[in-house]
Amino acid sequence: MEKITIAIDGHSSCGKSTLAKALGNALNYAYISTGDMYRAVTLYFIENKVDIKDPEAVRAALQKIKLHFELRPEGNCIFLNGRNVNHDIRTMPVNELVSPVSTISEVRKEMVRQQQEMGKNKGIVMDGRDIGTVVFPDAELKIFLTADVEERARRRYNELIAKGMKVDLDEIKHNLEERDRIDSSRKDSPLKKAADAILLDNTHLNHEQQLDKVLQMVKEKLWETRV
Ligand code: C5P
Repeated sequence: MEKITIAIDGHSSCGKSTLAKALGNALNYAYISTGDMYRAVTLYFIENKVDIKDPEAVRAALQKIKLHFELRPEGNCIFLNGRNVNHDIRTMPVNELVSPVSTISEVRKEMVRQQQEMGKNKGIVMDGRDIGTVVFPDAELKIFLTADVEERARRRYNELIAKGMKVDLDEIKHNLEERDRIDSSRKDSPLKKAADAILLDNTHLNHEQQLDKVLQMVKEKLWETRV
């Protein structure tokens, strides 16, 4: 059967990667959360004290960073220079620096190049902020996911608490709002809904309901694009 490209963009912590993973499993497609790539670059910058205001230092650091994904029982895990950093990229210091790092054009250029390479054969679900607008502007199905900010903060809080992390709900909500603000207002590839993306507000939808809705959209697209 024909395979398509599915782009999921949207606000922080509205379940993009959970949806991408469920869709990937249901369709037997690869799935990539591109936020993990920006997070891994940020982790490298923190650990190696790279001055993000120094373009030369950023360029040199990018050359030393090798990223790849491996499917593990817990999901598609990102590796930074051979080390599984799936857990380390979800800490508060990374949450706080990732959006400023993601405004750097050199960083974006390299991430987009790698993402386009990963998706060149279609049959992929990719989630992020600029997938439908910049990475795969020709994706057959584009979804723009959002949810009420209180609900998003609550979900992220519960997720981190369940992992045994000590977190504060207000701090999480503030971080989400701040990331959305920086992501939506940056010059290079700001977060915005592609004109042909379908808006999906999942504030009142559970995982199964979202998956059902999107699988229906996939069916329709496959029907439209049949040869
Ligand atoms: O998706 P996630 O919340 O893990 O992404 C972390 C951050 O990475 C976002 O807040 C955004 O600053 C950046 N990002 C981006 N472009 C993408 C994916 C993520 O700028 N395609």
